[in-house]
Amino acid sequence: MIKSLTVLGSTGSIGVQALDVARLMGLKIVALTANVRTDILEAQIREFHPGYVAVVDEKAAAELKIKIADTDTVVLSGSDGVNECASMQADTVLNSIVGIAGLCPTVCAIKSRNRLALANKETLVAGGSFITELAKEYGVDILPVDSEHSAIFQSLQGCADKKQIKKLLLTASGGPFFGKTASELENVTLEQALNHPNWSMGAKITVDSATMMNKGLELIEAARLFDVAPKDIDILVHRQSVLHSAVMFDDNSVIAQLGVPDMRIPIQYALTYPDRFVSPVRELDLAEYASLTFAKPDYDTFRCIGCCRTALEKGGIYTTVVNAANEKANELFRKGKIRFGDIARSVEKSLEFSGNGIDMTLENILETDKIIRKETEEMWQ
Ligand code: NAD
Ligand code: MG
Repeated sequence: MIKSLTVLGSTGSIGVQALDVARLMGLKIVALTANVRTDILEAQIREFHPGYVAVVDEKAAAELKIKIADTDTVVLSGSDGVNECASMQADTVLNSIVGIAGLCPTVCAIKSRNRLALANKETLVAGGSFITELAKEYGVDILPVDSEHSAIFQSLQGCADKKQIKKLLLTASGGPFFGKTASELENVTLEQALNHPNWSMGAKITVDSATMMNKGLELIEAARLFDVAPKDIDILVHRQSVLHSAVMFDDNSVIAQLGVPDMRIPIQYALTYPDRFVSPVRELDLAEYASLTFAKPDYDTFRCIGCCRTALEKGGIYTTVVNAANEKANELFRKGKIRFGDIARSVEKSLEFSGNGIDMTLENILETDKIIRKETEEMWQ
């Protein structure tokens, strides 16, 4: 069982829950990182006594240094500080940064041969084969934290030959707008989009769940993690979020992982794998549920899913492209600059990018991300 942990993005929804798990397991915290808000980080420093923390915002880092002068924790700053934390030796680095900002820290963690527990799905979507190849080269395991991917990973235990996988069944809650039509969704408010039925998460992923771009990103994430062709990944809307995803094998047996919707279960499994450990999460009582339902998604209303499938099929840089367009459009929507329906329009438009033949190098990935963000911003000016 691991003894030491670094949490990148420790002040976010996943980061805070990861530290809940770390507290229970009695893990030593090597380093913690945050973007700009340091109130939560200060409390975490006082409880977990990490050797290092990094704050991206220079001014916030300088202020934190003064506030925690009575502790032994060293404060680093900027993206370099986060990369430095990711590179420090720890049994596991959990990356729960949101968005493409998580990509370089992931690279640093892999290059230092730290085991990687990955919540930052954008790393695999934008980074694509560059990340999976790098992990292979350095012999680093990527353990999924995303609940669906953890469920698939758990369902695959004991499967010695991946060729025996027939299909992955990726479940989706359907988000707050299940059953609505595209025209009904055109002008929904941010407040409505943030009202997720089953999960309490950061704002970006909650909006991604409302557009169902999240499921598109997860489709790409699943294809990368488990090396399964896009045509062999089915998406199922399952409103209760109890069955977190499943695998169908060649003999048509389906193995799934179930549990109450609480991210501390997949977070903990990514830390304890291949072992299990007691959990504060409540037991699943299936008798509480009158029924568990499954349905095909409405691809006409939630067009982002189709865009992600197209990007995956086109291959190469196209998953970087749809991720960048979505990140920018999601941000513009949260700032009140575009309508909800414009998010899918932005992602659709990005697929027109002529990106065939672009090599998947870190430089090209970051450059393409920048270009698409700029184009998406200009599209709505
Ligand atoms: P969040 O917004 O609550 O937290 C994000 C964290 O990243 C914060 O600690 C923040 O300080 C840090 N951060 C933000 N911008 C940064 C930057 N530019 N550089 C460095 N650090 C930065 O987000 P979250 O809901 O915890 O999600 C984190 C990741 O986990 C996302 O990729 C999300 O898709 C994934 N995920 C989240 C959930 C969930 O239940 N919240 C479930 C599955 C996957
Ligand atoms: Mg998920």
